[in-house]
Amino acid sequence: MPRGDGRLSHELDPHRPGPQDACGVFGVWAPGEEVAKLTYFGLYALQHRGQEAAGIAVSDGSGVVVYKDVGLVAQVFDEPTLASLRGHLAIGHARYSTTGDSTWENSQPTLQSTTGGTTIALAHNGNLVNTADLARRAKELGMDSRGSTNDTSLVTMLLAGHPDLSVEGAAMKVLPTVEGAFSFVFMDENTLYAARDHHGVRPLVLGRLERGWVVASEQAALDIVGASVVREVEPGELIAIDEHGLRSSRFAAPDPKGCLFEYVYLARPDATINGRNMYSTRVAIGRKLAAEHPVEADLVIPVPESGTPGAIGYAEASGIPYGQGLMKNAYVGRTFIQPSQTIRALGVRLKLNPLRDNVRGKRLVVVDDSIVRGTTQRAIVRMLREAGALEVHVRISSPPVKWPCFYGIDFATGAELLANGMDMEGIRRSIGADSLGYVSLEGLIAATEQPKNRLCRACFDGEYPIKLPADNLIGKHVLEGVGRRVGSDERSGDQSSAPATELSRS
Ligand code: SF4
Repeated sequence: MPRGDGRLSHELDPHRPGPQDACGVFGVWAPGEEVAKLTYFGLYALQHRGQEAAGIAVSDGSGVVVYKDVGLVAQVFDEPTLASLRGHLAIGHARYSTTGDSTWENSQPTLQSTTGGTTIALAHNGNLVNTADLARRAKELGMDSRGSTNDTSLVTMLLAGHPDLSVEGAAMKVLPTVEGAFSFVFMDENTLYAARDHHGVRPLVLGRLERGWVVASEQAALDIVGASVVREVEPGELIAIDEHGLRSSRFAAPDPKGCLFEYVYLARPDATINGRNMYSTRVAIGRKLAAEHPVEADLVIPVPESGTPGAIGYAEASGIPYGQGLMKNAYVGRTFIQPSQTIRALGVRLKLNPLRDNVRGKRLVVVDDSIVRGTTQRAIVRMLREAGALEVHVRISSPPVKWPCFYGIDFATGAELLANGMDMEGIRRSIGADSLGYVSLEGLIAATEQPKNRLCRACFDGEYPIKLPADNLIGKHVLEGVGRRVGSDERSGDQSSAPATELSRS
């Protein structure tokens, strides 16, 4: 996002409460059920993964219809709209994107017809790294990708570009050529499909309804529609669900590299990834933090709500009482009015307010999930001191974020990341804390109970598990602190002439 564009910066914008995940996806195959409404509620449970656009595609067997728009799920859909979306299978998408990309055209599901008369709708969570290749292939298949400004429409075009094959056959041909992080749900008139990249970077879980099947980014979306969890969609697996039941195929050998940041912040606390619950992981991270960065204090408080499990773990392990010191305005993300300059200057006060009686005269440990730009933590420390705290010790449930994510998370540019080029003492002084401690990478990994080599940890250690189109992009733009916007801000409209280093996000 360019500076001076009238929007708040990442951490002060109530619409952008932290590092942003790129999208939540949902799919349902359930004859006899109100599939559009089930999808609506599924997306509602996934709203934290994307707040800029929402869409639902539905089929009654004779045709696929898509309804989508910019805005929150509850803004985009109303009762009459959902009632008009009739069918027995549906997919849905809650999208996060940067300002320039927040258009109706780039909202999802994307739609593409084959010359054989089949229509394909597709929704994507992740980020592809070989967009230029995909655009070239789409061109070779005679598809016009010039109007396309996102990687998702390119994949939809490629799936539709094989009229000689079934959609399932086309998917088995196309998916091995798609590089990057992807959890796709897609559909034609009769079949629901789900596919996850062979690294399984982004989550995707399969659930069972009494009369059907559900796939979703997180378990909360299954719970809300009354589906039971069956299992995760495996890395490198394509699932097809229709009247003949569920079929599973492998389009690539699995090489798991699940996103470590999902465990820290992105997924809801009630999500389970690879058998490990997020809430339990975050409490365990808090315990590690207490062991690695002890301090004498009177009260452990979270930065609500993402810091809560970590603070509980810290309090448990340290024996320091746990309590609330900051109240969050629960409705802040739902103000649809663009803040004026005066309001913007209030910054974090739009979101948080201190509980003065609880913090006055106390030595506080404040637990937060991560520091990206440091703006929020700086404001919180100041706010707590003004409210009478004697000492403010900041503890962070993740190691310093030093590298950008190329697999679907919008942190900031390299130059904007506070930990990039600043030592621990510099960061402590910058946020004004009495002391500062980040959990170690080893401590974080241990809390996830996953083997280190099955996790993507690139934003923490710079080891990117999926080859990037131009490796020196990192060296050039991050190590030197130049910074580069990852994704759509840099894109031109013409994907077919995109440079090899261009990255796009869904
Ligand atoms: S770079 Fe970080 S945020 Fe991106 S996929 Fe890897 S661990 Fe997750």
